[in-house]
Amino acid sequence: MTDTDFMKLAIEEAKKSVDAGGAPIGAVLVKGDKVFETGWSLVWPKKDPSAHGETECMRKACHKLQAINLTGYTLYSTLESCSLCLGCAGWCNLSKIVFGAYKEDTPDNPYELSDYHAEEHAKRFKNLEVVGGILREECKSLMSNIKNWSPVE
Ligand SMILES: [Zn+2]
Repeated sequence: MTDTDFMKLAIEEAKKSVDAGGAPIGAVLVKGDKVFETGWSLVWPKKDPSAHGETECMRKACHKLQAINLTGYTLYSTLESCSLCLGCAGWCNLSKIVFGAYKEDTPDNPYELSDYHAEEHAKRFKNLEVVGGILREECKSLMSNIKNWSPVE
């Protein structure tokens, strides 16, 4: 399985979120060549501002492991990790994040810091690598069903 293969799985998770009335953010957590956990944005369905696709995935994985340590795991996400998700990744010692669309691909997103770039900010963490742009166009097109960062019909 390649980064592209795992990103395709994250896109499938994102579509589940959209079907539930959420944002097109999906995530899969991988160790070695196997998917360990999945997650998708439940912010609107749960009315929980911290229930991002990535945080849901990391929460479920840590619960499954009964440990707050994701060293050796890679998280694939359809959108550039926000500052909340990057912080969560740091808290659980996640090793790597691979994302699809960049925050610039969602220009109506009012919630992210203006000078924020996950790949740059990740360097502040000891052991976290972040790589963006995998299947960027496919992930970017997923974001077309949101406006002002809210679902539209
Ligand atoms: Zn986030």
